[in-house]
Amino acid sequence: MDTMTSFSYLVSAVCFIMALKGLSSPESARHGVLYGMFGMALAIVTTLMTDTVDSIGLPLLGIALGGGVGATIAKKIDMRDLPQLMAGFHSLVGLAAVFVALAAFFNPSAYGIGEVGAIAVNSLIEMALGAAIGAITFTGSIIAFGKLQGFITGKPLTFIGQHKLNAGLGILMFLLIFAFCGTQSTFMLMVLVAVALALGVLLIMPIGGADMPVIVSMLNSYSGWAAAGIGFTLENTLLIITGALVGASGAILSYIMCKGMNRSFLNVILGGFGGDEDAANSPTAAAGDRPVKLGSADDAGFIMKNASSVVIVPGYGMAVAQAQHALREMADVLKAEGINVRYAIHPVAGRMPGHMNVLLAEANVPYDDVLELEDINRDFAQTDVAFVIGANDITNPAAKTDPQSPIYGMPILDVEKAKTVLFIKRSLGTGYAGVDNPLFFNENTMMLLGDAKTMAENIIKAME
Ligand code: NDP
Repeated sequence: MDTMTSFSYLVSAVCFIMALKGLSSPESARHGVLYGMFGMALAIVTTLMTDTVDSIGLPLLGIALGGGVGATIAKKIDMRDLPQLMAGFHSLVGLAAVFVALAAFFNPSAYGIGEVGAIAVNSLIEMALGAAIGAITFTGSIIAFGKLQGFITGKPLTFIGQHKLNAGLGILMFLLIFAFCGTQSTFMLMVLVAVALALGVLLIMPIGGADMPVIVSMLNSYSGWAAAGIGFTLENTLLIITGALVGASGAILSYIMCKGMNRSFLNVILGGFGGDEDAANSPTAAAGDRPVKLGSADDAGFIMKNASSVVIVPGYGMAVAQAQHALREMADVLKAEGINVRYAIHPVAGRMPGHMNVLLAEANVPYDDVLELEDINRDFAQTDVAFVIGANDITNPAAKTDPQSPIYGMPILDVEKAKTVLFIKRSLGTGYAGVDNPLFFNENTMMLLGDAKTMAENIIKAME
Protein backbone atom coordinates (compact mmCIF):
# COMPACT_ATOMS: atom_id res chain seq x y z
CA MET A 1 0.00 0.00 0.00
CA ASP A 2 1.54 3.37 -0.98
CA THR A 3 1.86 6.32 1.39
CA MET A 4 -1.03 8.26 -0.16
CA THR A 5 -3.43 5.32 0.16
CA SER A 6 -2.35 4.72 3.77
CA PHE A 7 -2.85 8.41 4.57
CA SER A 8 -6.34 8.51 2.96
CA TYR A 9 -7.36 5.37 4.84
CA LEU A 10 -6.11 6.92 8.07
CA VAL A 11 -8.21 10.06 7.44
CA SER A 12 -11.25 7.86 6.67
CA ALA A 13 -10.74 5.86 9.86
CA VAL A 14 -10.53 9.10 11.91
CA CYS A 15 -13.77 10.30 10.21
CA PHE A 16 -15.52 7.05 11.19
CA ILE A 17 -14.42 7.49 14.82
CA MET A 18 -15.66 11.13 14.73
CA ALA A 19 -18.94 9.85 13.23
CA LEU A 20 -19.44 7.44 16.14
CA LYS A 21 -18.61 10.18 18.63
CA GLY A 22 -21.05 12.59 16.93
CA LEU A 23 -23.85 10.03 17.01
CA SER A 24 -23.61 9.80 20.80
CA SER A 25 -25.72 12.97 21.23
CA PRO A 26 -28.73 14.31 19.27
CA GLU A 27 -27.08 17.73 19.08
CA SER A 28 -23.97 16.47 17.28
CA ALA A 29 -25.63 13.58 15.38
CA ARG A 30 -25.97 15.48 12.08
CA HIS A 31 -22.26 16.36 12.08
CA GLY A 32 -21.51 12.73 12.96
CA VAL A 33 -23.40 11.53 9.89
CA LEU A 34 -21.53 14.06 7.70
CA TYR A 35 -18.17 12.80 9.01
CA GLY A 36 -19.28 9.24 8.23
CA MET A 37 -20.37 10.16 4.70
CA PHE A 38 -17.10 12.00 3.98
CA GLY A 39 -15.01 9.15 5.42
CA MET A 40 -16.85 6.56 3.34
CA ALA A 41 -16.62 8.64 0.12
CA LEU A 42 -12.86 9.07 0.67
CA ALA A 43 -12.46 5.36 1.39
CA ILE A 44 -14.29 4.37 -1.81
CA VAL A 45 -12.40 6.81 -4.05
CA THR A 46 -9.06 5.75 -2.53
CA THR A 47 -9.83 2.05 -2.99
CA LEU A 48 -10.93 2.57 -6.61
CA MET A 49 -7.64 4.34 -7.32
CA THR A 50 -5.44 1.54 -5.96
CA ASP A 51 -3.71 -0.68 -8.54
CA THR A 52 -5.58 -3.78 -7.28
CA VAL A 53 -8.68 -2.46 -9.06
CA ASP A 54 -8.45 -3.27 -12.78
CA SER A 55 -11.55 -1.50 -13.98
CA ILE A 56 -13.79 0.90 -12.12
CA GLY A 57 -16.86 0.43 -14.38
CA LEU A 58 -18.32 -2.56 -12.52
CA PRO A 59 -17.71 -1.19 -9.00
CA LEU A 60 -19.26 2.15 -10.01
CA LEU A 61 -22.32 0.35 -11.41
CA GLY A 62 -22.65 -1.59 -8.13
CA ILE A 63 -22.30 1.62 -6.09
CA ALA A 64 -24.90 3.40 -8.24
CA LEU A 65 -27.38 0.52 -7.96
CA GLY A 66 -26.82 -0.14 -4.24
CA GLY A 67 -26.64 3.58 -3.40
CA GLY A 68 -29.82 4.27 -5.39
CA VAL A 69 -31.76 1.52 -3.63
CA GLY A 70 -30.35 2.57 -0.22
CA ALA A 71 -31.19 6.26 -0.74
CA THR A 72 -34.74 5.46 -1.88
CA ILE A 73 -35.39 3.21 1.11
CA ALA A 74 -33.86 5.72 3.54
CA LYS A 75 -36.12 8.50 2.22
CA LYS A 76 -39.27 6.41 2.46
CA ILE A 77 -38.66 4.62 5.73
CA ASP A 78 -40.88 5.32 8.73
CA MET A 79 -38.98 5.99 11.97
CA ARG A 80 -40.77 3.04 13.59
CA ASP A 81 -39.39 0.67 10.94
CA LEU A 82 -35.73 1.51 11.56
CA PRO A 83 -34.92 -1.69 13.51
CA GLN A 84 -36.08 -3.93 10.65
CA LEU A 85 -34.30 -1.72 8.11
CA MET A 86 -31.09 -2.19 10.06
CA ALA A 87 -31.69 -5.95 10.22
CA GLY A 88 -32.26 -6.01 6.44
CA PHE A 89 -29.05 -4.08 5.75
CA HIS A 90 -27.00 -6.28 8.12
CA SER A 91 -28.13 -9.35 6.23
CA LEU A 92 -26.50 -7.86 3.11
CA VAL A 93 -23.22 -7.23 4.96
CA GLY A 94 -23.25 -10.88 6.06
CA LEU A 95 -23.94 -12.06 2.50
CA ALA A 96 -21.16 -9.85 1.15
CA ALA A 97 -18.72 -11.41 3.64
CA VAL A 98 -19.68 -14.91 2.41
CA PHE A 99 -19.25 -13.90 -1.25
CA VAL A 100 -15.85 -12.26 -0.69
CA ALA A 101 -14.65 -15.37 1.18
CA LEU A 102 -15.84 -17.63 -1.67
CA ALA A 103 -14.26 -15.34 -4.30
CA ALA A 104 -10.95 -15.41 -2.42
CA PHE A 105 -11.13 -19.22 -2.12
CA PHE A 106 -11.85 -19.82 -5.81
CA ASN A 107 -9.42 -17.19 -7.14
CA PRO A 108 -6.72 -16.79 -4.46
CA SER A 109 -4.05 -15.44 -6.82
CA ALA A 110 -6.21 -12.36 -7.50
CA TYR A 111 -5.96 -11.61 -3.77
CA GLY A 112 -2.25 -12.49 -3.52
CA ILE A 113 -2.90 -15.27 -1.00
CA GLY A 114 -1.52 -18.23 -2.99
CA GLU A 115 -2.84 -20.62 -5.63
CA VAL A 116 -5.88 -22.92 -5.75
CA GLY A 117 -5.09 -25.82 -3.37
CA ALA A 118 -2.10 -23.96 -1.92
CA ILE A 119 -3.62 -21.05 0.01
CA ALA A 120 -1.75 -19.70 3.04
CA VAL A 121 -3.20 -21.19 6.27
CA ASN A 122 -3.81 -17.81 7.93
CA SER A 123 -5.87 -16.75 4.88
CA LEU A 124 -7.87 -20.00 5.07
CA ILE A 125 -8.69 -19.32 8.74
CA GLU A 126 -9.71 -15.73 7.93
CA MET A 127 -11.95 -16.71 5.03
CA ALA A 128 -13.53 -19.62 6.94
CA LEU A 129 -14.32 -17.37 9.91
CA GLY A 130 -15.54 -14.55 7.63
CA ALA A 131 -17.78 -16.95 5.69
CA ALA A 132 -19.18 -18.60 8.83
CA ILE A 133 -19.89 -15.36 10.73
CA GLY A 134 -21.23 -13.79 7.52
CA ALA A 135 -23.61 -16.72 6.91
CA ILE A 136 -24.94 -16.61 10.50
CA THR A 137 -25.42 -12.84 10.17
CA PHE A 138 -27.20 -13.28 6.83
CA THR A 139 -29.90 -15.76 7.87
CA GLY A 140 -30.11 -14.43 11.46
CA SER A 141 -30.77 -10.91 10.18
CA ILE A 142 -33.39 -12.16 7.71
CA ILE A 143 -35.27 -13.87 10.56
CA ALA A 144 -34.92 -10.72 12.71
CA PHE A 145 -36.28 -8.65 9.80
CA GLY A 146 -39.21 -11.07 9.34
CA LYS A 147 -40.09 -10.96 13.05
CA LEU A 148 -39.92 -7.17 13.27
CA GLN A 149 -41.88 -6.68 10.05
CA GLY A 150 -44.50 -9.22 11.12
CA PHE A 151 -43.80 -11.74 8.31
CA ILE A 152 -42.80 -14.27 10.98
CA THR A 153 -44.53 -14.51 14.34
CA GLY A 154 -42.90 -12.37 17.03
CA LYS A 155 -43.45 -15.10 19.61
CA PRO A 156 -40.40 -17.15 20.64
CA LEU A 157 -40.40 -20.37 18.58
CA THR A 158 -38.86 -23.07 20.70
CA PHE A 159 -38.63 -26.87 20.69
CA ILE A 160 -37.17 -29.47 23.02
CA GLY A 161 -33.40 -29.88 22.69
CA GLN A 162 -33.02 -26.59 20.84
CA HIS A 163 -30.09 -25.31 22.89
CA LYS A 164 -28.32 -28.67 22.62
CA LEU A 165 -28.82 -28.67 18.85
CA ASN A 166 -27.43 -25.13 18.60
CA ALA A 167 -24.43 -26.02 20.77
CA GLY A 168 -23.85 -29.13 18.63
CA LEU A 169 -23.96 -27.10 15.41
CA GLY A 170 -21.58 -24.54 16.93
CA ILE A 171 -19.06 -27.28 17.74
CA LEU A 172 -19.54 -28.82 14.28
CA MET A 173 -18.78 -25.43 12.74
CA PHE A 174 -15.43 -25.23 14.52
CA LEU A 175 -14.56 -28.81 13.50
CA LEU A 176 -15.42 -27.94 9.90
CA ILE A 177 -13.15 -24.87 10.05
CA PHE A 178 -10.26 -27.10 11.20
CA ALA A 179 -11.03 -29.69 8.53
CA PHE A 180 -11.30 -27.02 5.83
CA CYS A 181 -7.99 -25.42 6.79
CA GLY A 182 -6.34 -28.87 6.68
CA THR A 183 -7.81 -30.06 3.38
CA GLN A 184 -8.70 -26.85 1.45
CA SER A 185 -11.71 -28.82 0.29
CA THR A 186 -14.52 -26.98 -1.52
CA PHE A 187 -17.02 -29.47 -0.06
CA MET A 188 -15.93 -28.63 3.52
CA LEU A 189 -16.31 -24.91 2.87
CA MET A 190 -19.79 -25.42 1.41
CA VAL A 191 -20.87 -27.59 4.36
CA LEU A 192 -19.45 -24.96 6.74
CA VAL A 193 -21.50 -22.22 5.04
CA ALA A 194 -24.64 -24.43 5.07
CA VAL A 195 -24.25 -25.21 8.81
CA ALA A 196 -23.68 -21.49 9.58
CA LEU A 197 -26.78 -20.53 7.55
CA ALA A 198 -28.88 -23.04 9.53
CA LEU A 199 -27.38 -21.84 12.84
CA GLY A 200 -28.36 -18.25 12.02
CA VAL A 201 -32.01 -19.31 11.67
CA LEU A 202 -31.98 -21.52 14.78
CA LEU A 203 -30.32 -18.88 16.97
CA ILE A 204 -32.83 -16.14 16.20
CA MET A 205 -36.08 -18.13 15.92
CA PRO A 206 -36.47 -18.68 19.71
CA ILE A 207 -36.09 -14.97 20.47
CA GLY A 208 -39.25 -12.91 21.01
CA GLY A 209 -40.00 -10.03 18.61
CA ALA A 210 -39.62 -7.42 21.34
CA ASP A 211 -36.08 -8.60 22.17
CA MET A 212 -35.09 -8.07 18.55
CA PRO A 213 -33.45 -4.63 19.02
CA VAL A 214 -30.79 -6.26 21.22
CA ILE A 215 -30.39 -9.02 18.64
CA VAL A 216 -30.19 -6.56 15.74
CA SER A 217 -27.43 -4.75 17.60
CA MET A 218 -25.67 -8.08 18.22
CA LEU A 219 -25.99 -9.02 14.52
CA ASN A 220 -24.62 -5.58 13.69
CA SER A 221 -21.62 -6.49 15.80
CA TYR A 222 -21.27 -9.87 14.00
CA SER A 223 -21.42 -8.21 10.60
CA GLY A 224 -18.59 -5.88 11.71
CA TRP A 225 -16.39 -8.78 12.81
CA ALA A 226 -17.16 -10.65 9.56
CA ALA A 227 -16.07 -7.56 7.60
CA ALA A 228 -12.90 -7.28 9.73
CA GLY A 229 -12.11 -10.95 9.02
CA ILE A 230 -12.49 -10.32 5.29
CA GLY A 231 -10.32 -7.20 5.68
CA PHE A 232 -7.44 -9.49 6.71
CA THR A 233 -8.01 -11.70 3.64
CA LEU A 234 -8.04 -8.65 1.36
CA GLU A 235 -5.15 -7.07 3.30
CA ASN A 236 -7.22 -3.91 3.50
CA THR A 237 -6.42 -2.04 6.73
CA LEU A 238 -9.42 0.27 6.46
CA LEU A 239 -11.83 -2.66 6.21
CA ILE A 240 -10.19 -4.18 9.30
CA ILE A 241 -10.51 -0.90 11.25
CA THR A 242 -14.09 -0.22 10.07
CA GLY A 243 -15.15 -3.80 10.75
CA ALA A 244 -13.64 -3.63 14.24
CA LEU A 245 -15.40 -0.29 14.92
CA VAL A 246 -18.76 -1.72 13.82
CA GLY A 247 -18.10 -4.96 15.74
CA ALA A 248 -17.09 -3.18 18.94
CA SER A 249 -19.81 -0.50 18.84
CA GLY A 250 -22.51 -3.14 18.18
CA ALA A 251 -21.25 -5.21 21.10
CA ILE A 252 -21.14 -2.14 23.40
CA LEU A 253 -24.68 -1.15 22.34
CA SER A 254 -25.99 -4.66 23.10
CA TYR A 255 -24.29 -4.45 26.48
CA ILE A 256 -25.83 -1.01 27.24
CA MET A 257 -29.31 -2.29 26.33
CA CYS A 258 -28.92 -5.39 28.51
CA LYS A 259 -27.61 -3.24 31.38
CA GLY A 260 -30.57 -0.83 31.02
CA MET A 261 -32.95 -3.81 31.28
CA ASN A 262 -30.85 -5.45 34.01
CA ARG A 263 -30.65 -8.67 32.00
CA SER A 264 -27.67 -10.74 30.99
CA PHE A 265 -26.94 -11.15 27.32
CA LEU A 266 -27.30 -14.92 27.77
CA ASN A 267 -30.81 -14.33 29.13
CA VAL A 268 -31.73 -12.46 25.93
CA ILE A 269 -30.17 -15.10 23.69
CA LEU A 270 -31.93 -17.93 25.48
CA GLY A 271 -35.24 -16.07 25.10
CA GLY A 272 -38.33 -16.62 27.22
CA PHE A 273 -38.73 -13.06 28.60
CA GLY A 274 -41.94 -11.09 28.77
CA GLY A 275 -45.48 -11.72 27.70
CA ASP A 276 -47.67 -10.90 24.79
CA GLU A 277 -48.34 -7.20 25.10
CA ASP A 278 -51.12 -7.34 22.51
CA ALA A 279 -53.00 -9.65 24.85
CA ALA A 280 -54.09 -6.58 26.81
CA ASN A 281 -57.70 -7.88 26.65
CA SER A 282 -60.37 -5.51 27.88
CA PRO A 283 -59.31 -2.01 28.96
CA THR A 284 -59.57 -2.80 32.64
CA ALA A 285 -58.79 -6.53 32.57
CA ALA A 286 -55.90 -6.39 35.05
CA ALA A 287 -57.85 -4.44 37.67
CA GLY A 288 -59.74 -7.33 39.29
CA ASP A 289 -61.32 -5.90 42.46
CA ARG A 290 -58.80 -3.15 42.83
CA PRO A 291 -60.14 0.40 42.46
CA VAL A 292 -58.75 2.46 39.60
CA LYS A 293 -59.14 6.20 39.27
CA LEU A 294 -60.14 6.89 35.67
CA GLY A 295 -59.96 10.40 34.26
CA SER A 296 -60.68 12.33 31.08
CA ALA A 297 -58.75 14.80 28.94
CA ASP A 298 -60.63 17.62 30.71
CA ASP A 299 -59.47 16.35 34.12
CA ALA A 300 -55.88 16.08 32.91
CA GLY A 301 -55.98 19.57 31.38
CA PHE A 302 -57.34 21.05 34.62
CA ILE A 303 -54.74 19.30 36.82
CA MET A 304 -51.83 20.31 34.63
CA LYS A 305 -52.93 23.92 34.21
CA ASN A 306 -52.93 24.22 37.99
CA ALA A 307 -49.48 22.65 38.36
CA SER A 308 -46.21 24.52 38.55
CA SER A 309 -44.04 21.62 37.30
CA VAL A 310 -44.77 18.78 34.88
CA VAL A 311 -42.39 15.97 33.91
CA ILE A 312 -43.36 14.08 30.75
CA VAL A 313 -42.33 10.40 30.58
CA PRO A 314 -42.64 9.05 27.02
CA GLY A 315 -42.55 5.34 26.22
CA TYR A 316 -43.15 2.84 23.47
CA GLY A 317 -46.88 3.71 23.19
CA MET A 318 -46.01 7.30 22.28
CA ALA A 319 -43.94 5.97 19.38
CA VAL A 320 -46.73 3.62 18.28
CA ALA A 321 -49.28 6.43 18.36
CA GLN A 322 -46.82 8.93 16.82
CA ALA A 323 -47.92 11.35 19.52
CA GLN A 324 -44.67 13.35 19.73
CA HIS A 325 -45.94 16.39 17.80
CA ALA A 326 -49.18 16.62 19.81
CA LEU A 327 -47.10 16.15 22.96
CA ARG A 328 -44.81 19.05 22.11
CA GLU A 329 -47.81 21.26 21.34
CA MET A 330 -49.26 20.33 24.74
CA ALA A 331 -45.94 21.19 26.40
CA ASP A 332 -45.89 24.55 24.56
CA VAL A 333 -49.36 25.40 25.89
CA LEU A 334 -48.23 24.55 29.43
CA LYS A 335 -45.02 26.54 29.08
CA ALA A 336 -47.01 29.54 27.86
CA GLU A 337 -48.84 29.32 31.22
CA GLY A 338 -45.48 29.59 32.99
CA ILE A 339 -45.36 25.92 33.97
CA ASN A 340 -41.95 24.23 34.15
CA VAL A 341 -42.12 21.35 31.64
CA ARG A 342 -39.38 18.76 31.18
CA TYR A 343 -39.06 15.31 29.61
CA ALA A 344 -37.59 12.28 31.41
CA ILE A 345 -35.94 9.65 29.22
CA HIS A 346 -35.29 6.13 30.41
CA PRO A 347 -32.30 4.40 28.71
CA VAL A 348 -34.52 1.59 27.33
CA ALA A 349 -37.77 3.50 26.75
CA GLY A 350 -39.32 2.38 23.46
CA ARG A 351 -37.83 -0.45 21.47
CA MET A 352 -34.43 0.80 20.39
CA PRO A 353 -31.67 2.86 21.94
CA GLY A 354 -32.35 6.58 21.61
CA HIS A 355 -35.91 5.84 20.37
CA MET A 356 -37.51 8.64 22.41
CA ASN A 357 -34.73 11.15 21.74
CA VAL A 358 -35.14 10.66 17.98
CA LEU A 359 -38.91 11.15 18.11
CA LEU A 360 -38.72 14.20 20.39
CA ALA A 361 -36.01 15.73 18.18
CA GLU A 362 -38.29 15.12 15.17
CA ALA A 363 -40.99 17.15 16.97
CA ASN A 364 -38.44 19.93 17.68
CA VAL A 365 -38.48 19.50 21.44
CA PRO A 366 -35.56 21.62 22.77
CA TYR A 367 -32.63 19.38 23.81
CA ASP A 368 -32.28 21.25 27.11
CA ASP A 369 -35.77 20.10 28.17
CA VAL A 370 -34.87 16.44 27.71
CA LEU A 371 -33.18 14.82 30.72
CA GLU A 372 -31.76 11.36 31.28
CA LEU A 373 -32.93 9.12 34.15
CA GLU A 374 -30.04 9.91 36.48
CA ASP A 375 -30.47 13.67 35.97
CA ILE A 376 -34.22 13.84 36.64
CA ASN A 377 -35.07 10.99 38.98
CA ARG A 378 -34.46 12.95 42.18
CA ASP A 379 -36.80 15.75 40.97
CA PHE A 380 -39.99 13.64 40.88
CA ALA A 381 -40.49 14.16 44.64
CA GLN A 382 -40.77 17.92 44.00
CA THR A 383 -42.88 17.55 40.83
CA ASP A 384 -46.60 18.30 40.68
CA VAL A 385 -47.47 16.09 37.71
CA ALA A 386 -45.70 13.11 36.17
CA PHE A 387 -47.31 12.76 32.74
CA VAL A 388 -46.63 9.19 31.58
CA ILE A 389 -47.52 8.76 27.91
CA GLY A 390 -47.42 5.25 26.43
CA ALA A 391 -44.83 4.06 28.96
CA ASN A 392 -45.21 1.19 31.37
CA ASP A 393 -42.23 -1.02 32.39
CA ILE A 394 -39.87 1.93 32.79
CA THR A 395 -42.06 3.26 35.62
CA ASN A 396 -42.93 -0.04 37.31
CA PRO A 397 -41.89 0.04 41.02
CA ALA A 398 -41.94 -3.78 41.07
CA ALA A 399 -38.43 -3.44 39.62
CA LYS A 400 -37.39 -2.12 43.04
CA THR A 401 -39.65 -4.03 45.39
CA ASP A 402 -40.43 -7.48 43.98
CA PRO A 403 -37.41 -9.83 43.76
CA GLN A 404 -39.61 -12.34 41.85
CA SER A 405 -40.41 -9.84 39.10
CA PRO A 406 -38.62 -10.41 35.76
CA ILE A 407 -37.71 -6.72 35.73
CA TYR A 408 -36.33 -6.73 39.31
CA GLY A 409 -33.18 -4.62 39.42
CA MET A 410 -33.95 -2.55 36.31
CA PRO A 411 -33.54 1.14 37.14
CA ILE A 412 -36.91 2.91 36.79
CA LEU A 413 -38.20 6.46 36.67
CA ASP A 414 -39.64 7.21 40.13
CA VAL A 415 -42.85 8.79 38.80
CA GLU A 416 -44.88 7.59 41.80
CA LYS A 417 -43.10 10.20 43.93
CA ALA A 418 -44.81 13.04 42.03
CA LYS A 419 -47.93 14.59 43.60
CA THR A 420 -50.10 13.29 40.74
CA VAL A 421 -49.33 10.68 38.11
CA LEU A 422 -51.29 10.85 34.87
CA PHE A 423 -51.01 7.64 32.85
CA ILE A 424 -52.04 7.60 29.18
CA LYS A 425 -52.44 4.15 27.70
CA ARG A 426 -55.24 2.20 26.10
CA SER A 427 -55.83 -0.36 28.84
CA LEU A 428 -54.51 -1.66 32.16
CA GLY A 429 -52.61 -4.29 30.18
CA THR A 430 -48.91 -5.01 30.52
CA GLY A 431 -46.00 -3.69 28.50
CA TYR A 432 -43.02 -5.41 26.94
CA ALA A 433 -42.00 -7.40 30.03
CA GLY A 434 -45.52 -8.76 30.49
CA VAL A 435 -45.76 -7.76 34.17
CA ASP A 436 -48.57 -5.84 35.88
CA ASN A 437 -47.84 -2.32 37.02
CA PRO A 438 -49.09 -1.63 40.60
CA LEU A 439 -48.85 2.12 39.94
CA PHE A 440 -52.17 2.03 38.03
CA PHE A 441 -53.95 1.47 41.36
CA ASN A 442 -52.11 4.06 43.45
CA GLU A 443 -54.02 6.83 45.27
CA ASN A 444 -52.19 9.56 43.37
CA THR A 445 -52.55 7.92 39.91
CA MET A 446 -55.20 8.88 37.36
CA MET A 447 -55.54 6.59 34.33
CA LEU A 448 -56.41 8.29 31.04
CA LEU A 449 -57.37 5.34 28.87
CA GLY A 450 -57.06 5.94 25.14
CA ASP A 451 -54.70 6.37 22.23
CA ALA A 452 -51.74 8.57 23.18
CA LYS A 453 -52.04 10.99 20.23
CA THR A 454 -55.82 11.42 20.49
CA MET A 455 -55.60 11.94 24.25
CA ALA A 456 -52.79 14.54 23.95
CA GLU A 457 -54.81 16.40 21.28
CA ASN A 458 -57.92 16.33 23.48
CA ILE A 459 -55.93 17.65 26.44
CA ILE A 460 -54.72 20.56 24.31
CA LYS A 461 -58.33 21.34 23.34
CA ALA A 462 -59.40 21.07 26.99
CA MET A 463 -56.68 23.51 28.10
CA GLU A 464 -57.48 26.00 25.37
P1 NDP B 1 -43.71 -0.83 27.52
O1 NDP B 1 -43.70 -1.81 26.42
O2 NDP B 1 -43.39 -1.28 28.87
O3 NDP B 1 -45.14 -0.12 27.61
C1 NDP B 1 -45.67 0.55 26.53
C2 NDP B 1 -47.15 0.74 26.78
O4 NDP B 1 -47.64 1.55 25.72
C3 NDP B 1 -47.94 -0.54 26.74
O5 NDP B 1 -48.22 -1.01 28.04
C4 NDP B 1 -49.23 -0.17 25.98
O6 NDP B 1 -50.34 -0.27 26.86
C5 NDP B 1 -49.01 1.32 25.63
N1 NDP B 1 -49.45 1.63 24.27
C6 NDP B 1 -49.25 0.93 23.14
N2 NDP B 1 -49.82 1.55 22.10
C7 NDP B 1 -50.37 2.70 22.59
C8 NDP B 1 -51.08 3.76 22.00
N3 NDP B 1 -51.38 3.80 20.69
N4 NDP B 1 -51.50 4.78 22.80
C9 NDP B 1 -51.24 4.75 24.13
N5 NDP B 1 -50.56 3.76 24.73
C10 NDP B 1 -50.13 2.74 23.97
O7 NDP B 1 -42.75 0.36 27.04
P2 NDP B 1 -41.72 1.26 27.86
O8 NDP B 1 -41.25 2.28 26.88
O9 NDP B 1 -42.30 1.70 29.15
O10 NDP B 1 -40.54 0.30 28.21
C11 NDP B 1 -39.72 -0.25 27.20
C12 NDP B 1 -39.62 -1.75 27.35
O11 NDP B 1 -39.01 -2.28 26.17
C13 NDP B 1 -38.77 -2.14 28.54
O12 NDP B 1 -39.26 -3.28 29.15
C14 NDP B 1 -37.42 -2.43 27.87
O13 NDP B 1 -36.69 -3.38 28.63
C15 NDP B 1 -37.89 -3.03 26.55
N6 NDP B 1 -36.86 -2.97 25.48
C16 NDP B 1 -36.30 -1.77 25.15
C17 NDP B 1 -35.30 -1.71 24.20
C18 NDP B 1 -34.65 -0.42 23.87
O14 NDP B 1 -33.56 -0.43 23.33
N7 NDP B 1 -35.26 0.71 24.14
C19 NDP B 1 -34.85 -2.91 23.48
C20 NDP B 1 -35.59 -4.10 23.84
C21 NDP B 1 -36.53 -4.11 24.82
P3 NDP B 1 -51.80 -0.47 26.26
O15 NDP B 1 -51.76 -1.69 25.42
O16 NDP B 1 -52.66 -0.59 27.47
O17 NDP B 1 -52.12 0.76 25.48
